[in-house]
Amino acid sequence: MIGPPGAGKGTQAKLLGERLGVPHVSTGDILRAAVAAETPLGRQARRFMDSGRLVPDDVVIGIVDERLRAPDCRRGFILDGFPRTVPQARALDELLAKRGQPLDAVLLIDVPQPALVERLSGRRVCRRCGAMFHTALDGAGACTRCGGELQQRADDREETVLERMEVYARETAPLRDYYARAGLLHAIDGMGTRDEVARRIEASVG
Ligand code: AMP
Repeated sequence: MIGPPGAGKGTQAKLLGERLGVPHVSTGDILRAAVAAETPLGRQARRFMDSGRLVPDDVVIGIVDERLRAPDCRRGFILDGFPRTVPQARALDELLAKRGQPLDAVLLIDVPQPALVERLSGRRVCRRCGAMFHTALDGAGACTRCGGELQQRADDREETVLERMEVYARETAPLRDYYARAGLLHAIDGMGTRDEVARRIEASVG
């Protein structure tokens, strides 16, 4: 699952993983957990993430390689936010070829830039359970699932959002051609409600 920041990759990858009964593997979530736990990986990743830049390819490729070796990935997985560069895509091809488990599909969630900035700047995440909210829809109160405190991701501040958009255009957008040439690309209109987008994904990849 690829797409610009704020396109809804995380939400849709989680839903699709639940529907197909396979794990949702988010490099962003793995990195954020490492940052929160202040592991050596977290300390290394933090300065890239907080400024909206990409964590170096070799670090992220290592994380994915390790995660995909876990037994729960044997029957498949949904990758969310990986790959994000052409070298990562090549490394993923190699890694999956070795496992005899090639990609079935690449879903590109498309949302126009003005909507992305609006979504990201209003996004709030529960500190305790990770549920996501938007100030325009839900206000800025407590988490409606667990009562936890809502906070803004460090990289959702406006100046960082603009940097992330530029990084996306420069580093990640070329993956559209990469996967179109491989015959794997499914472009999905990411505007509308969560359920509308989920139905489009279902219609596109079954
Ligand atoms: P995300 O949750 O997918 O928006 O990712 C949040 C941040 O984690 C990104 O802005 C990057 O700094 C870092 N990150 C996540 N996935 C990758 C990746 N595949 N390559 C490099 N950096 C990544």
